[in-house]
Amino acid sequence: MRIEQELKLGFKDVLFRPKRSTLKSRSQVNLTRDFTFKHSGRQWSGVPVIAANMDSVATFDMAAALAEHNVMTAVHKHYSVDDWKTFIDGADSKTLNNVMVSTGTSESDFKKTQDIMAMTDEIIFICVDIANGYSEHLVEYVTKVRAAFPDKVISAGNVVTGDMVEELILAGADIVKVGIGPGSVCTTRVKTGVGYPQLSAIIECADAAHGLGGRIIGDGGCACAGDVSKAFGGGADFVMLGGMLAGHEESGGETVEKEGKTFMKFYGMSSESAMAKHSGGVAKYRAAEGKTVLIPFRGSVHETISDILGGVRSTCTYVGAARLKELTKRTTFIRVQEQENNVYGKE
Ligand code: 5GP
Repeated sequence: MRIEQELKLGFKDVLFRPKRSTLKSRSQVNLTRDFTFKHSGRQWSGVPVIAANMDSVATFDMAAALAEHNVMTAVHKHYSVDDWKTFIDGADSKTLNNVMVSTGTSESDFKKTQDIMAMTDEIIFICVDIANGYSEHLVEYVTKVRAAFPDKVISAGNVVTGDMVEELILAGADIVKVGIGPGSVCTTRVKTGVGYPQLSAIIECADAAHGLGGRIIGDGGCACAGDVSKAFGGGADFVMLGGMLAGHEESGGETVEKEGKTFMKFYGMSSESAMAKHSGGVAKYRAAEGKTVLIPFRGSVHETISDILGGVRSTCTYVGAARLKELTKRTTFIRVQEQENNVYGKE
């Protein structure tokens, strides 16, 4: 047994130190990033926020709505090939350009990804996603997907340490997805005791990925726009959001009426709800590692995403970053033991 003594940080442990700046207004801040990806050589330009591949978040409707803001959606993996065909036939180029096709690592997942990618050249992202990215099986699968799709942008995860980021990039991933345990409906830390505070995971994994010309997605744990900024400040190239985008018209959750108010069901992809819906229940050998919650219905996602991006722009003005790309260079985090003042309750 070993103990690492260095304290690892979550979003709640830091704040940005403000810096002198010549920026007068948040309208002067450009959140668009231009990436050329390591293996595929593909280019993408947009606002690097991604709706998480959960079936009560990342629907086709969400993809169309967020694309209007140049924001991406990792469409969940439970649509059929026929559903994809209908979507692709009706979607504009901008939407398709901002979509990731999510997949697990089974033979049938591979076949399905092939079928979907064969329908259009306009989708360039594949998101290979398993809860425990430390499995050798993921590395082998990424190698196989890279060989089959040499010119597609491949994201793989989830992991939280630099060694595994490097291994996945060397196996063919352009982007590595980072986060184990921080999610709003995740119970992995309670059920297994495994995890890594998300800000430290981002800082360490970004360093490892950038050294090899790869990119990372900070996935999970953002509860407010300030957290999204902190993820970017820590070095995340992309930030993935589940809970912050759940509960909207476009999220595809089931609505529930309770005491005259409308709520929407939101659940983890390893929760009992998700397993009952997609795999006929929780298998005997495993425990559910996600929970189901009801969140107040929030209407259309447009206002929410504008609010989030407005917050990130504002962070940039406080630290003097004219472009999102500069945010991490302009970031000094201070360690804190307080966040917001809740004397009148939470936002
Ligand atoms: P959020 O933005 O809601 O904090 O986190 C979203 C992320 O939580 C997802 O992208 C995914 O990585 C993770 N996640 C989603 N469902 C589950 C689950 O059932 N169990 C665990 N451990 N993580 C989940």
